[in-house]
Amino acid sequence: MAIDLPPAALRLRIDKEALAANWQALDDLSGSASAAAAVKADAYGIGVPQVVPALQQAGCRNFLVAHWSEVPDLLGLIEPDSISVLHGPMNSAEAEFAQATGVKPVINSIGQARIWLDAGGGRCDLMVDTGMNRLGLPMSDLGSEWLQSLDIDVLMSHLASADEDTEFNDTQRRRWNDACIAIPHLRSSLANSAGIVLGREFHGELTRPGLSLYGGIPRSELSTRIRQVAYPQAAIMQVRTIDAGDGVGYNSTFVASSQMRIGTIAIGYADGYLRCWSGKGTLSCAGKALRVLGRVSMDMTVIDLTHAPSVKEGDWVEAEYSLRDASAISGLSQYELLTLLGQRFSRAS
Ligand SMILES: *Cc1c(COP(=O)(O)O)cnc(C)c1O
Repeated sequence: MAIDLPPAALRLRIDKEALAANWQALDDLSGSASAAAAVKADAYGIGVPQVVPALQQAGCRNFLVAHWSEVPDLLGLIEPDSISVLHGPMNSAEAEFAQATGVKPVINSIGQARIWLDAGGGRCDLMVDTGMNRLGLPMSDLGSEWLQSLDIDVLMSHLASADEDTEFNDTQRRRWNDACIAIPHLRSSLANSAGIVLGREFHGELTRPGLSLYGGIPRSELSTRIRQVAYPQAAIMQVRTIDAGDGVGYNSTFVASSQMRIGTIAIGYADGYLRCWSGKGTLSCAGKALRVLGRVSMDMTVIDLTHAPSVKEGDWVEAEYSLRDASAISGLSQYELLTLLGQRFSRAS
């Protein structure tokens, strides 16, 4: 007889309606272009099995991951030719994996183009570096004959500062336009979440939001359109009363100045609730705000229940995790807040 695992004391509530609505909003904002979905890093920490079917149902047809290791989880969910692998083939094993599975490699250099063609070639995407100097074909290599032999679906580039109003966005857009003229391709793509609101000249045929699908707001233009998707929740394991002068947690960084009722919850920095929330985080239960007391530990955090007398052991609390506010309070980026969320959360599918 299989032994069933008891339910986890830590769960990620995922608002799939908000996820679908965010994709729809970003697709609408993309005008005549279609919105793809960046689902790398386990869909930004939220969970590929939860996110990808919901996005597909919303109408999304193109999905991006970074690593080859991220492909198998997607293959059972969507068609291989809807998957692009951003890191591209660094060696023949990776190119052969793409050939065998039918997913598209994103070619990032002449070297990768040769590896892909040596493995048999076929439909691929091309990333051109228009000034970020990270990964992608340098503009100076656009004349290479190897590129003319590629069968390119999406010719893409990536914006370095789409979340800011800077002339560099236009510089990159012009270079991307030049690349699109030089290299035969089917569809062009430049904008990430923030880039979508820079206007239609940035859209091409495909936009590539990630962060904003999951509730991130990189530019204020998106604040009325994008809804929160991920809600971390933890169970209260123990409640106790402490007296004036008692400390809480490692190094007693919080000391009570009067009698208090406190609770210990099953979430810690190993779950992505990092120590920057120590003394700063807020959770809630039954409409009451419950502040974090003292240091966040690896597996536990202590919260103030003094003003929530009805909240008891076994109850669930939810972290305040609206990404823009949470970023301002914690000092973590909105991207980090999501991708940190650990493997111990149960994620209902
Ligand atoms: C991660 C990624 C995206 C998504 O960017 P967001 O800022 O999360 O919207 C788009 N394109 C590429 C190439 C990426 O690596």
